[in-house]
Amino acid sequence: MSLVTRFAPSPTGYLHRGHAFSALTAYRAAREAGGRFLLRIEDIDATRCRPEYDAAIFEDLAWLGLEWETPVRRQSEHLADFHAAIETLRERGLVYRCFKTRKEIDIGRAPHEPAVPYVGSPLPVDEEARRLDRGEAFAWRLSLAAARRVLGGFEGLTFVEQGAGPDGETGVIQARPETAGDIVLARKDVGVAYHLAVVHDDALQGVSHVIRGVDLFEAAHIQRLLQALLGYPTPTYRHHGLLVGPDGKRYAKRDKAQTLRELRAAGTTPAELRAELGF
Ligand code: GLU
Repeated sequence: MSLVTRFAPSPTGYLHRGHAFSALTAYRAAREAGGRFLLRIEDIDATRCRPEYDAAIFEDLAWLGLEWETPVRRQSEHLADFHAAIETLRERGLVYRCFKTRKEIDIGRAPHEPAVPYVGSPLPVDEEARRLDRGEAFAWRLSLAAARRVLGGFEGLTFVEQGAGPDGETGVIQARPETAGDIVLARKDVGVAYHLAVVHDDALQGVSHVIRGVDLFEAAHIQRLLQALLGYPTPTYRHHGLLVGPDGKRYAKRDKAQTLRELRAAGTTPAELRAELGF
């Protein structure tokens, strides 16, 4: 089986060195294996995505010397596919409507305390009907309890990590989807959650290897559960370490000075950047 991997940025800011490192890592893996490299635009969050960031992704990656297959899948053009997947989960009683706001969920939580994963259950039918009549906003949440029932527990959920998690986790990993609580799969403002769109598209596009930053290692635990529930194959994971700057801190979108556009404007060549990143 040939290796198929992807770089899947969200156009919520300009790409920085960390993105370049991640894209180059996936690209090199595909090249070395004689496999395929895909670019996927994860633009489902209309409240945060901007066309100028979107256009810049193509410019910046081309400047860096990457080539990808076309057409590029753009998630915002496939919302119906994601809703159909949520509908199949709904038909099997795996999701429920949650009318709680983040504020209500966080009641009693001190600002310095981490958010507790939310675990809930469907409302009684009549109360739910009343709230729907009143037009109250709700989120679809994936029920861990229902998922456990359907799968007979989570023990069978494992994935292969060829890179490493934040604590050096590697090899066959037991998935722990429960640490995230009942995750939100869809909301009024953001129609589809990231996790659902990712597992759907990785399966649809035949992605065999998910190569991405270790900051998404925890996501693999949740995504493994969704794969099992939706009958999708599980790709092999290769989480890579995050690039750190001279100050020892990881690069982030907020560090404006580190965007690829700015490096380019300052006269950095793609070859120089690739060399700096170890490619
Ligand atoms: N779109 C996600 C992000 O930009 C990455 C998704 C993934 O690689 O699985 O953080």
